[in-house]
Formats: sequence, structure tokens, C-alpha cells
Amino acid sequence: MSQLTSATPKKEVGGHVVVVPYPSQGHINPLLQFAKRLASKGIKATIATTHYTVSSICAPQVGVEPISDGFDQGGFAEAKREDLYIESFKSNGSKTLSQVIKKYLDTSNPVSCIVYDSFLPWALDVAKQHGLYGASFFTNSATICNIFCRIHHGLLTLPVNIEDMPLLVPGLPPLNFHDLPTFVRFPQSNPAYLAMKLNQYSNLDKADWIFDNTFEELEGEEARSVSQQWPGKLIGPMVPSAYLDGRIKGDKGYGSSLWKPLSGECIEWLETKPEKSVVYISFGSMVSLTAEQMEELAQGFKESNLHFLWVVRASQLDQLPKWFTDSTKEKGLIVSWCNQLEVLEHKAIGCFVTHCGWNSTLEGLSLGVPMVGVPQWADQLTDAKYIEEIWEVGVRAKEDDKGIVRKEEIIKCLKQVMEGERSQEIKKNAIKWKKSAKKAVSEGGSSDKNIDEFVNSLMSSKDN
Ligand code: UDP
Repeated sequence: MSQLTSATPKKEVGGHVVVVPYPSQGHINPLLQFAKRLASKGIKATIATTHYTVSSICAPQVGVEPISDGFDQGGFAEAKREDLYIESFKSNGSKTLSQVIKKYLDTSNPVSCIVYDSFLPWALDVAKQHGLYGASFFTNSATICNIFCRIHHGLLTLPVNIEDMPLLVPGLPPLNFHDLPTFVRFPQSNPAYLAMKLNQYSNLDKADWIFDNTFEELEGEEARSVSQQWPGKLIGPMVPSAYLDGRIKGDKGYGSSLWKPLSGECIEWLETKPEKSVVYISFGSMVSLTAEQMEELAQGFKESNLHFLWVVRASQLDQLPKWFTDSTKEKGLIVSWCNQLEVLEHKAIGCFVTHCGWNSTLEGLSLGVPMVGVPQWADQLTDAKYIEEIWEVGVRAKEDDKGIVRKEEIIKCLKQVMEGERSQEIKKNAIKWKKSAKKAVSEGGSSDKNIDEFVNSLMSSKDN
């Protein structure tokens, strides 16, 4: 048992965890939040992220180290191809992560554990080469983990047949074809991403811990029914503490932004709007909508005659119809990026039109905001099913045969969530889930207990 001297800072009693996210906004956010949560419990936490994203990190509670994906100037955009990027990150990332571990070897707090994004299974190999603990962190729902884990273990075979729907998967509700992740519906659509999703399980038997950003009440059954192959501990929602338990002082944002948020402008504008009158629209950091889809959405927002705050990333501005901005000046604000949590928390927000990325879904649930799901690809389709049918905190906009959500559908969905018959029920459920998310991460909650268990094992292994 090591003796702590009075000079030993409390923050350094529990070993040293290096956290390695996949370098996109939807992955950096939850992993950085986990690092901050560990730091708040006395563990030294360092985030190791790519040269291209390292300057976006602003979280004084955690250390920061750059590693290389081989595209130090432009990241994924420089690589352009998924397979090339994934391979390059593996070879360059393994080397540079090793260097980070070596850098701390002769310090008072050498690295004891690597918490890595499940998209980066090579980081577990690096941890094991150095004799360290390794913990895999899944950033998507337990439902999605369940599905891909079964495919990896041959318990579910691809391609699934549309005639065999609904798909019956233990622990999950019956899934129709349009509820399935894109890579399951159309395995050939993106072989590199499908391979990455399956690779998450390739060496998982060597991991000392598996974490998932979800919580017991939300998805306990979905996780348990695959726990033999995937014994994941549910530790979410990884949303800044100020919006949930409030135990981490001043924790109002994730501490990373790949684009500059127009926070002041959004809040100033929202302040002038009546309570629960504004529709907030965001498709996250990756989705690109076609001009046709943008036109339909624009028409729908205009004709619904509601106030709206729409995040249109700079790369998407060209697709926004020319007539739109001028003719909706009175009703709407368009920004290139915002602080989504600050917006969702604002009393003027009445509904969240979302692409159903997992972080956005958890944020909507945690802040109790009713949602209109307009999922585009990957896991978003399955998340949308849960939003509408299982948690009943919103509705899902239906696409036509061309895969486009038409303006009439948008108007109908907004009505249902903002003022329709179902809106009262949806609002009630949204508040119920908000309370349950808060309980999970508060002291003694299911997620908090799982995090404490991890922290205690790290602390005791350091002491022994
Ligand atoms: N986000 C933000 N500002 C915006 C739009 C999105 O801060 O204007 C954040 C949002 O809060 C979430 C993340 O970006 O944490 C997006 O992650 P998500 O999983 O929802 O979608 P992805 O971008 O991975 O598709």
C-alpha cells in the first residue's frame, strides 16, 4: 500500500487514465466528458487526440496530448477515404500513443489505463503491449451494440432480408427494415464503416472494462440480453454535469468545439421569444442534406409559421434555398454552429428537430425536450424508432419513396409535438426521462455506481 504524503495532490491518488476519442465532435464530446467525470472523482485524466483536433480541447480539469492520425493538417477531410483514414490512424496512432505512455513512465503518475473509443481497437493492443489496463468506450446506444455484437459473433447474419421483417432480436423490440442501421440494411453501402463497426468487437475479450454511454433505465434490457458477449457497464448520459447532477463545478459545456459556436447571438435572439415557442433544428456535425431535402425542410418551417433556430453548417449553406433567409427573417435565425446544450436548455425552446445522432438524442432526453426525428443514416434510424415508439418523447418524420421527408410531413410532425393531441403525453414523457437521466448520474445512481466501481479498482490497483 503506497503512503500518501500531505504534499500529494488529491487529484493524483487514483492512477492515470489516458482517454482516446475518435476525432469527430460526436465522439470527442462523450469521451472528454468521461475524462472530466473521472477527474472529478480523483483520477488523473489526460485526453490524447489528433493534432488536427487537439486545439479544440478546452477543459482545464484534464491534461491534453497530441497523437497522430497521419493527417496532421486536415484530419479526415485531408484523407477523404474512410478505409485510408482508419488504416492510417491505426499505424500512426499506435506509435504516437505509445510515445505518450512512455513520456509519463518516470513521472509520479505513470499511465495505468487507456480508455479508448471502441472505434479504435488498436488502442487496446497498445495498452496491453505496455502492460496497462484497457477500457473500451462505446459512444452509441446499447441497442446498436447489441445488434453489431450479434453480427460479429454470427448470431445475426447479413444481409437481412426485407421479407423476414420484423427482425426479432433478444432484448430489443421487433425491428422493421426502416428501423435498422444503414450498414445492416445495406451492408454494401459503406464497407469501410461496416468493417469498423464490427472491428469494435474483434479484441474485446482482452478489455478489462467495457463502457457504454447510456443508462440502466433507458436501455438496461437491451444491454443485458447480450451481456455474455458484451458485458458493457452503462455509465451515461455523458452530458455536462450542470445539466444533470450539478456536482462538477462550472461544468456547462463539453469543453471541445470543432467550429466556433455563435452562443451570444443565439441566446440574445431566444430571449426575445415566448416560452416553448421555438423549434431548434440541427443535423449534427456530419450529415449533409441534399438541396431537395433542404428545400422541403425550408418550406415546412416557413409554412408551419413557428419561430425556428436552424444550425446550417458552412459546408451546407449552398444547399439552402436562396428565397429562404429573406422571407423568414421575422421568424427565424440561421447559425453555422451553436452551443447546443445552452440552446436546448433555454425556456423558449419547444421542440428539437434532430437527425437522432446518439449524443443529440441523449441531450434531448436529458434536457427534457420533445423531438421530431429526421434520421439520415447509420444508427440514427434505430435511435429514431426508440424516440417515437419506446421512450415516446417525440415523433419520427416519414420519408417518401425517394427517401425525402416532404414539407407536409414536417408540418404535421411539428404540429403533433408542439400542440397536437399527443403533445401533452410527449411532454410528460420528456420530463420523466429528464428526471431519470439525472438520477442515473447523481450520487448513488446506476451510472454513478458503475463509474465509482471503475475508479475504485484503479485506485486499489495503484495502492497495491
Ligand atoms: N452540436 C453542437 N452545436 C451544434 C450542433 C451540434 O454543439 O450546432 C453538438 C451536439 O451537442 C452533440 C454533437 O455536436 O454533442 C453531435 O453529436 P451527435 O452524436 O448528435 O451527431 P454527429 O455529429 O456525430 O452526427
